[in-house]
Amino acid sequence: MPDIRARALARTPVVRQAFHVTLRGVPALRLLGAVWIFLLAQSTLSGAQSAANDRRDELLDRMAASSTLVIRGRVEATESRAHAGAIYTYATVAVDEVLKGPDSIQSLVVKTLGGATDGVVLQVPDAPRFASGDEAVMFLAPRPGDGTLYPVALAQGIWPVSLDLAGRGPQAGRGELQGPLDAAFRERVARSAPATAPYALTPPEWPPASQATYALLTTADGGPARWHHADDGQPVVVNFQTGASTAALDGAMALWNASGSVLTLERGADGPAPLDRRCASFSGSGTIELAWSGPCDEIAATDTTTVGIGGGYFTPGRLKTVGSTTFQGFVQGLAILNPNRPNAPSAGCTLEAVAHLLGHAVGLGHSDVPGALMATTPRASCTSGIPSLDADDVAGIRAIYADLASGPAPPHAPTAITSSAVLSSVTLQWTPAATGGAAQTYTLEAAVTPGGLNILNPPLATSASSLQVSGVPEGRYYVRVRASNPWGDSGLSPEAQVVVGPCTVPSAPAGLTATVDGRMVTFNWTAPAQGLTQSYQLSAGFSSGQSDAAIRPGLTTTSFSTDAPDGTYFVRVAAVNVCGVGPATPDTRVQVRSCSAAPNPPTNVQATSGGGLVMLTWEAPATGERPSRYLIRAGLSPSDLSLLGSGVLTGDSRPSLTASAGPGTYYVQIVSTNLCGDSAPSATTAITVTP
Ligand SMILES: [Zn+2]
Repeated sequence: MPDIRARALARTPVVRQAFHVTLRGVPALRLLGAVWIFLLAQSTLSGAQSAANDRRDELLDRMAASSTLVIRGRVEATESRAHAGAIYTYATVAVDEVLKGPDSIQSLVVKTLGGATDGVVLQVPDAPRFASGDEAVMFLAPRPGDGTLYPVALAQGIWPVSLDLAGRGPQAGRGELQGPLDAAFRERVARSAPATAPYALTPPEWPPASQATYALLTTADGGPARWHHADDGQPVVVNFQTGASTAALDGAMALWNASGSVLTLERGADGPAPLDRRCASFSGSGTIELAWSGPCDEIAATDTTTVGIGGGYFTPGRLKTVGSTTFQGFVQGLAILNPNRPNAPSAGCTLEAVAHLLGHAVGLGHSDVPGALMATTPRASCTSGIPSLDADDVAGIRAIYADLASGPAPPHAPTAITSSAVLSSVTLQWTPAATGGAAQTYTLEAAVTPGGLNILNPPLATSASSLQVSGVPEGRYYVRVRASNPWGDSGLSPEAQVVVGPCTVPSAPAGLTATVDGRMVTFNWTAPAQGLTQSYQLSAGFSSGQSDAAIRPGLTTTSFSTDAPDGTYFVRVAAVNVCGVGPATPDTRVQVRSCSAAPNPPTNVQATSGGGLVMLTWEAPATGERPSRYLIRAGLSPSDLSLLGSGVLTGDSRPSLTASAGPGTYYVQIVSTNLCGDSAPSATTAITVTP
């Protein structure tokens, strides 16, 4: 069983839940780091007569020369937080005087390695300890990577400023090197060579997380979740239930798509209300399923308070780190609107409800900002227009789906992989993506079937955009490449096929037979006459030559048993080796018919209408054979009913169907059916739809 966790959040106007942004799920971890300071251990002066003043002057010269900025300022606030896989302490400093650098600087943020966050401590003994109100001369230099400012010589680069009670003016320095902060001091600093390295007065990852009030979707024992394939420019598809205008869905998706993140939501296919399962059942579909009118067995018919339920299934089997947060991978999302429609005072409120539930299905929890779309309580403003995202919603979605325009981002997948093979040596080349973050490493995967499992363990990695592999065994391979940088991994490139040596697939197996016992079907066949067989692939379809019922690859024996629903199937088997899938046997027709009689009619047929929709619900027959589906007949006269819908399966004890209907009186009958025949119709139910 895959390790799948589900998280769904209901939105209700009366219940308030609090979600907070923290580094949840970080294991209690303690790191110890030490930075050795070379500067003070070395002295070019010797002899007992070395004056403290000379040593101070020499040190001041070296500190100033090492610095890009030297300022005198006051610490206003400090905060430690995780960033880029480490922990930093950020000190916000109000600048009183610039001793080296542009005079215009009024404030800046000093970023030092080390600090304590929720559950994780990084201890750097030489790091300065800042406290609010501290006044100091600070010798600062930019980190090469991002230009953020740190004190040169760490704690030794912070010279506390104190007032001298003897009236000699302010003093600056550490320990015995303290001395006047006077004109001579300023002149020594000012005459050091100006530095040209670019610097950032405020780190790009600032302001601190405490200013954000959005929340990520979390579980008590896991991490937040996201749709990783969005990083490759692939859309997250939203399938939706037939029967209502798609305007609300399109509008809701457009709000998120305009948020400036890499996330793109795309309208997928419509279909009837979930047929053979409840709306929230796990399918691992890789898509978000939107149910307009349930009932999905999750919201009571009397409940006019819950707006809807949104969330999704995700798995730690697909981890990805964005910024400093590690996300699990969504494998299915869901958004269920309450069929009692408390969300329907206006089109704007319906759109807002869909957008809020989609927010949950892409990884957002509830915001503490009352005006945010992701707040627990719906905004009253939706009744008077089309809603928009709050800045907090935008910040939240960009935290999950990195903002490509302004910050570091994972790379996009490489394109156009090409390959050539000479004897057992394979050369691969690919084109880095033109968009997304810059790739630092590429990881090669190879499979023996298209889209199949990677067989390279350990994986082959390179920083170049080409790779040569020698000693490759004969066969046909499907290769693809993933790009990575410290902010995350791309998806996989398109696959390329590589053939090493003459490659032949096995011939067809023979003698496929099927034995049916109730719903259990057992297949047997004999091995191919020619070629090396590594596994078998069984395919079944609802018509001849089709594989739309099931494909079972990777069978290692010449026999296979499975439980099959009632129906007629066309089944064949093929042998597989590293060169590919061989020809299949002719189709064998299999009929599974577990019934012995037609079912009884359904009972308790109920019809309700509203908003241009009619919803029918009924109950499965309590006795007799189980129906495999229902036929719905409807018309404007009880004596003239035609087939309205069929194919409603019986996974639920209370199946339902929703249809749109103009004003008028309609008559409805429902028939149970299975492979053995149809039931008598249910009692005729009349429903009047008013304009
Ligand atoms: Zn919610």
